[in-house]
Amino acid sequence: LKEHNGRLMWHPMTSPKDSIDQPPKIITEADGVSIVDVDGHRVVDGVGGLWNVNLGYSCEPVKKAISAQLDTLPYYSTFRGTSNDAVIELSYELSEFFAPDGLSRAFFTSGGSDSVETSLRLARQYHKLRGEPGRTKFLSLKKGYHGTHFGGASVNGNANFRSAYEPLMPGCFHIPAPYTYRNPFNETDPEKLAQLCLQALEDEIAFQDAGTIAAMIMEPILGAGGVIPPHPSFAPAVQEICNRNGILLITDEVITAYGRTGAWSGARLWGIQPDMMATAKAITNGYFPFGAVMLGQRMIDTFEGNPNAKIGHGYTYSGHPVGAAAALACLAETKRLNVVENAAARGTQLFEGCQALQKKHGIIGDVRGGYGLMTAIEMVSDRTTKKPIDAGTAAVVQEVAYQSGAMVRVSGPNLILSPALILSEAEANTILQALDAGFTQAAKTAA
Ligand code: PMP
Repeated sequence: LKEHNGRLMWHPMTSPKDSIDQPPKIITEADGVSIVDVDGHRVVDGVGGLWNVNLGYSCEPVKKAISAQLDTLPYYSTFRGTSNDAVIELSYELSEFFAPDGLSRAFFTSGGSDSVETSLRLARQYHKLRGEPGRTKFLSLKKGYHGTHFGGASVNGNANFRSAYEPLMPGCFHIPAPYTYRNPFNETDPEKLAQLCLQALEDEIAFQDAGTIAAMIMEPILGAGGVIPPHPSFAPAVQEICNRNGILLITDEVITAYGRTGAWSGARLWGIQPDMMATAKAITNGYFPFGAVMLGQRMIDTFEGNPNAKIGHGYTYSGHPVGAAAALACLAETKRLNVVENAAARGTQLFEGCQALQKKHGIIGDVRGGYGLMTAIEMVSDRTTKKPIDAGTAAVVQEVAYQSGAMVRVSGPNLILSPALILSEAEANTILQALDAGFTQAAKTAA
């Protein structure tokens, strides 16, 4: 098996040829916030699985809940007239959890891309039910990431994730993101940049005609695009613009919901109330593929107030009882451990630690974060010209960091840190020391 090394499969976001030339690391075990590879090398997981393992890998109450659910009801569909206790209880718990965000109904899915797709579908259906079938277009942010289904891919703001699959869904328009390090306005002041992006949003709405737009979807802090937190004035102003124009606001909180930002949701971080919130990932902490779209009052009134409104889609695993049992146990642990507090404290430690590394290493062009455990380092080969780092040097940083004790994720020029929210101070230091080693070696290699 070690020799076969995954060559008979194609890995996500990986070139099939690379899978052969640079075989993947085989991860064999995980506990706490650490992972162990097939050679017995143990490292702190600075990635948190894939931004999802908020509670670490040894969450006993979740394992027990899954096992108990497997013993009683391993599966039954929630389509057309059947449901199950676990998912009914979960919908109750989630509607309490997200009540401060103005969201009190749930629709269950099998993951983040499904949650995004569901929210786009429900947005179009909402306007049809309200007699405005012409509202079909979608707005999103450049550098936003919204998953892999055709709808989600169409609103993705990064052309790299779209171009291979075109033509995509027509009627999707991408607004400049509040990304201070690089933007078409050459504006580095976060508040002024937010204003310019908001003006671009207003202009696009006017150009398209507000009456043709169904919804705006955005991540409260852009994640996969390289951890881009907007100025705090940005999200409330987006909400105001959407409201004023009859456009629904969807927050894609596949990463940000359940505590990662140091707030219980990205919406709460910025003080907004979206019409829909797409969630997944940490809802089951990696124990089960699962997602939930949370729905606000406008959606509830429109769908529940209309006898002809029928949800025309769903997933075989929507409301899966084992996923629901896992999610219930995760939610209880998330609340019991009050993970937002540690996420904020360790987030500050990592963010400030990365800023200190920036003073030492010329390869670090920009450090972004400061809101919980979402931090990115943008690597450059030249700080003055901001020329992005080459893939080979970025790979050296990642590999040396790994050999020095921490798994970190490199995505294009960005090095992303999104560890478990239960990370300790010592584990955060291990990540920072491993990065220091990685940057030191990369500078030698490049020289
Ligand atoms: N939206 C966002 C913001 C994401 O970060 C992701 C996944 N990284 C998705 C959607 C898609 O989620 P999934 O991979 O579970 O389909």
